[in-house]
Amino acid sequence: MRKRVLSGMRTTGRLHLGHYFGALKNWVELQNECDCYYMLSDWHALTTDYTDTSKIEENILEMVADWVTVGIDPQKVVIFEQSKVPQHSELFLILSMIAPLSWLQRCPTYRKQIKEIKNKDLSNYGFLGYPVLMAADILLYKASIIPIGQDQLSHLEFTREIARRFNNFYGNILIEPKEKLTKTAKVPGLDGRKMSKSYNNSVLLGESVDILKNKVQTMFTDPLKVRISDLGHPDGCVIFSYYEIFGAECKKRKEECKTGTIGCVSCKKQVVEMLSEFMKPLTEKRRNVISDKAYLKKIIEMGNLKAMETAQKTMAEIRQALKF
Ligand code: ADP
Repeated sequence: MRKRVLSGMRTTGRLHLGHYFGALKNWVELQNECDCYYMLSDWHALTTDYTDTSKIEENILEMVADWVTVGIDPQKVVIFEQSKVPQHSELFLILSMIAPLSWLQRCPTYRKQIKEIKNKDLSNYGFLGYPVLMAADILLYKASIIPIGQDQLSHLEFTREIARRFNNFYGNILIEPKEKLTKTAKVPGLDGRKMSKSYNNSVLLGESVDILKNKVQTMFTDPLKVRISDLGHPDGCVIFSYYEIFGAECKKRKEECKTGTIGCVSCKKQVVEMLSEFMKPLTEKRRNVISDKAYLKKIIEMGNLKAMETAQKTMAEIRQALKF
């Protein structure tokens, strides 16, 4: 039997390079060998963006367009919307009854974001409960492979722990999933922190060359390298991480930087070129994909039905195990 895969993205706007190199690349590869469910996480978008929900629905089509543009094949995978499969909320409720508060409060992503995101009030119950909803999403499909970025690892650990706790209480029903990371599981943003919409440090897929130039210009480099001849430290430099991501001239560039034979300005220029080359075909393809909104809607409608069929089966088992 083919292994089951589940992963999702919050419908909070256009995709960035972190989404692509951190997770989507693996999504595309896995669709040929596994039974894949890819979820538009609209309820998860509410965990941080609950005050203004006006864009969530509109973002859904944009996101599917991005997925199809990078090579997700709707004939091979199930693309669905989280809020259209009510079993997610049912399992979320049940899991929240057995989720110890301390497990959630100690979650590193939660602690980091509470500290770093200052423009939103994240004292809401739903934000603390983000991992419970993610666990429900995964466990509902009995998925065993979860392609995610590094930032989601603690949530997946939580998923395994809550599955174990559930199985101890009610019988062996849920499956403990494992992560699948890309080789660049943490793509840095312009400021060196993880690239994230929440940090406003993203390079979006399909960015115009002018915007690319401006953004790359502001990318952090080695602060100790001011002149070309200064010996640089490529490890930890945001610009250098893009050479690693693209694998192009990586060794050569590292040597040049360390020996002071290249300056940050030319290094940045080449990153702009690499990124434009990468984006160009995507921008053209995306224009076609997004023009057929009816097709995109159809993909989601069909996916919702398939996802619900699978989710219903697991929920029936769970209800029986809980004697409900
Ligand atoms: P955001 O943090 O921008 O709101 P999501 O939480 O929707 O993004 O993340 C969707 C997927 O993309 C997750 O698997 C996440 O781990 C991955 N991802 C997001 N940003 C990055 C990044 N900078 N590097 C690696 N993976 C990332």
